[in-house]
Formats: sequence, structure tokens, C-alpha cells
Amino acid sequence: MSVLDMRNVGLTIGGTAILDDISLHLAEGEFLSILGPSGAGKSTIFRLLTGAAQHDSGTITCNGQPLATNQHGFGFMPQRDALMPWRRIIDNLTLGLEVQGIRRKDARAHVTPLLADFGLDGFTDHYPAQLSGGMRQRAALLRTIAQNRPVQLLDEPFGALDALTRTQMQAWFEKRWRTARWTTLLVTHDVREAVALSDRIYVLSRRPASVIAEVHVPAPRPRLGRPVSADAHAIEAQLLEILLNQTGETL
Ligand code: ADP
Repeated sequence: MSVLDMRNVGLTIGGTAILDDISLHLAEGEFLSILGPSGAGKSTIFRLLTGAAQHDSGTITCNGQPLATNQHGFGFMPQRDALMPWRRIIDNLTLGLEVQGIRRKDARAHVTPLLADFGLDGFTDHYPAQLSGGMRQRAALLRTIAQNRPVQLLDEPFGALDALTRTQMQAWFEKRWRTARWTTLLVTHDVREAVALSDRIYVLSRRPASVIAEVHVPAPRPRLGRPVSADAHAIEAQLLEILLNQTGETL
């Protein structure tokens, strides 16, 4: 049974069709990416999954049950790091746990052993503005992961970073994912990122979005921090061609 199953999901907002016919599934422990051009509707899919919007047609189930009865919720990292500027890093990190009803003291005890792993040791009393972009992203990731949700939804978590920091963060995240095997759904417009991280990739069309391709990535891990394998390179080329066909462009 799929952890998450979307079948023929459609959504129209104010007369504009945003999602046309989205069918996708996510298996336990899988790293799945949704790849598509900007404005395709990727974030909108997350808005449906987090309850911020309702689909008009089709079905969404979580472990075989309607999404609305999803008791555990999903871990969700929105596109911007969404740290609260007036809260110290430690209080940002514990926020999701506190929202779940865990006392601040217990939430701190849960988060503290993870700090070193996320490179945030010694920065807990800082405010977000005092941290580098990479550190803020790691803090946002830690806040999401610390909630121990079985499914992690990550909306362009590395998108705002410069190229070097982005590569470091991707490698860092993949390493942790290989141990923890969070069931992960990543939204990205970056072909290389999708291939480097995913077990499987869905490609979305331009708006109104539908799934136009599903690609498996069998390349061995770890994939980052070493030359891109011939297999991975071929998949990147295939995905680029699919995306370019959408715009009628060629390389
Ligand atoms: P992506 O994440 O792929 O960049 P989004 O899901 O953010 O795309 O948006 C998909 C499309 O839907 C965009 O063209 C956006 O302008 C449009 N859209 C999103 N939300 C609304 C809304 N509330 N009203 C009208 N259009 C919207």
C-alpha cells in the first residue's frame, strides 16, 4: 500500500485550471521528487497535502485512508525557510513540537542531541538573521525532521542557496536520508538535484499541471560528491529534453 496516493486530482482556482490530472504515489521509505517548470503547480500539490487548499476532483489517500483523516500529518518544509525572526534558533527548532502539545522543556531535550549533526551547536541563542543562509536552511530542515513525522514534504529546500552551499546541503541531506529513510517528497525545478537525490521522479507539465513522465533513478548512492555517473547523466539529459519539449525549445 502506498503511503500517499493521489488519483486524477484536479484543482481550479478563480476559473484558472491549476492542476489538471495529477496521479502519483509514494511508497514507504522512498525518495520521490516532483520536477516541473516554475509556476507548474508543484507548491499547489503541497498546499493540498497540508490542507491549505482542497482539490475539486480525484482522490488523495494516506495509507489507504482519506487524507482528511491523516492523524500524524506530514513534516513540511515550505519554500522559504519560514523561521520566525523574533524567536531564537532553539525556540524556532522546538516550535513544531510545541504546536503538537509537547512542553518546551521536553521539546528542547528532544532537539538538543540533534544540533551537532545539523551543524547548529553553539548557535541556539542566535536569531535567524545572525545565521548564514545554509545554517538557516539546516535549522528549517531540523525543525521539520525533529517532529518525527513519517512523511517529509520538502518544497525546494535548497533553492535559495548559492551553488556551493546547495551542493553541500544536498550531500548532507542525502547522507542523513540514507540512514533515516524518511519517506520523502521533494519538489524542485532543478533536474540535477532531482537525479542526485531521488529514487523516482515525476515530471509535471506546464500549468494546468499533469504528470507527463515518471522516471526511475537506479544509480547507486551516494551520488553527490563524486563525478555524475553515466546512468545519472543520461537521465538528466532525458529529463531536460522532456522539460524543454514543454516550452518548444531545444538546447
Ligand atoms: P510552482 O510551485 O510549480 O512554481 P505553484 O504551485 O506555486 O507553482 O503555482 C502554480 C500556478 O498556480 C501558478 O501559475 C500560480 O500563479 C497559480 N496560482 C497559485 N495559487 C493561486 C491562487 N490562489 N489563485 C490564482 N492562481 C494561483
